[in-house]
Amino acid sequence: MPVATTKFLLAENEIPTQWYNIAPDLPGPPSPPLHPGTHQPIGPDDLAPLFPMGLILQEVSQDRWIDIPEEILEIYRLWRPSPLQRAHRLEKALGTPAHIYYKYEGVSPAGSHKPNTAIAQAYYNKAEGVTRIATETGAGQWGSAMAMACKFFDLECSVYMVKISYNQKPYRRAFMETFGADVTASPSNQTNAGRGILEQDPDSSGSLGIAISEAVEDAATHDDTRYSLGSVLNHVLTHQTIVGLESKKQMAMAGEYPDVVIGCVGGGSNMAGLAFPFMADKLGGDKPDVRLMAVEPTACPTLTKGQYVYDFGDTAGMAPLVKMHTLGHTFVPAGIHAGGLRYHGDAPLLCQLHHEGLIEAVAYPQNPVFEAAVTFAAAEGIVPAPESAHAVKAAVDEAVRAKEAGKETVILFGLSGHGYFDMTAYDEYLAGNLDDYAHSDELIAEALKNVPEIASA
Ligand SMILES: *Cc1c(COP(=O)(O)O)cnc(C)c1O
Repeated sequence: MPVATTKFLLAENEIPTQWYNIAPDLPGPPSPPLHPGTHQPIGPDDLAPLFPMGLILQEVSQDRWIDIPEEILEIYRLWRPSPLQRAHRLEKALGTPAHIYYKYEGVSPAGSHKPNTAIAQAYYNKAEGVTRIATETGAGQWGSAMAMACKFFDLECSVYMVKISYNQKPYRRAFMETFGADVTASPSNQTNAGRGILEQDPDSSGSLGIAISEAVEDAATHDDTRYSLGSVLNHVLTHQTIVGLESKKQMAMAGEYPDVVIGCVGGGSNMAGLAFPFMADKLGGDKPDVRLMAVEPTACPTLTKGQYVYDFGDTAGMAPLVKMHTLGHTFVPAGIHAGGLRYHGDAPLLCQLHHEGLIEAVAYPQNPVFEAAVTFAAAEGIVPAPESAHAVKAAVDEAVRAKEAGKETVILFGLSGHGYFDMTAYDEYLAGNLDDYAHSDELIAEALKNVPEIASA
């Protein structure tokens, strides 16, 4: 009897040498970002205080393919190509006829997909003479990736870390400091944005929106410093397509094509990175029926309950206005939620495709998510990041539906990272302390009152 293959591995020289930019393939024109003060469309020059021109040009690029510089590929080769695995043991445990595949990004040095863009961002900043990066981190993965990337390119790195994570995740902080980064709990006294929040609420546990305001202000007020964002922006999603491009080659090695591609969504970068190369087949008509699914927590139901309007990318209203599904930029996530994925908005590219009905979205409360993660670990041996566990849960549910329907559904999901810095969350789950929190319609309506009126929208 032939032995079924478990790992589909590419050779180093099969790493894709171009990123895929979905912009020219979108079914309709994108809504341009607007200046936070004037509400007028912004151009490359408006972004220059925050980003190097190399990244700004990628942000607005209409080129379908963007060459990956050799210096970046050389670093990618430390962990890429990442494995695509068939979850035979999970299929057996679930008793499903479905074929379940997962693309595992936890093999990167920082433990998630985030270095795929951190390395690229550090490279383009260095190339233009920037010497310091200011950024924020929520759960700590982005800060870890950026701290490592800055070390590789000899850049200073200042990280504003959401205060609740700073206190709950000392090992993430130590990881960043190991790479020489300077880590500050946000809200902090170092910026006007931070001081403003602390005046209103001295005990603020912080949020990603607040930390972004602090990092943006830091970059805008220091000539040698640029700002760096780990998700949401077009160029970040483009960098992450390396994940989906590899996956397509690996699915071809397996001799299959997915019926459904599933990713968890915080800001949208890992889901888009995995799904956009498959979306290209859907938009191009080769694979019109492939389903693409975004998974989010009910505690931060941006795609499933947010409104598709222009809103600020940060809490203080200093970052550009972008058209996206939003819970309102003043949204502060529930501190009782253990699962990450807590940004008030989502990537405009992803939101546009969801708005046009090309990407599905589902939301889950956290206990069933951790239950699925534990089932996955028992079968496959990897403890997923709490964020990635949302994709695991959706994949398990698809596999159970396939069993009920007696179908060999081919499921591909993104296992965006491992959970080895997140064992406190598992501890809480196993002790029965997690609350199945759902962000209420009242709170959403309240926060949406603060969304600015845009005449043209
Ligand atoms: C940051 C992170 C996410 C969420 O961010 P996206 O931009 O939506 O991908 C998901 N999984 C892991 C492991 C992360 O570190």
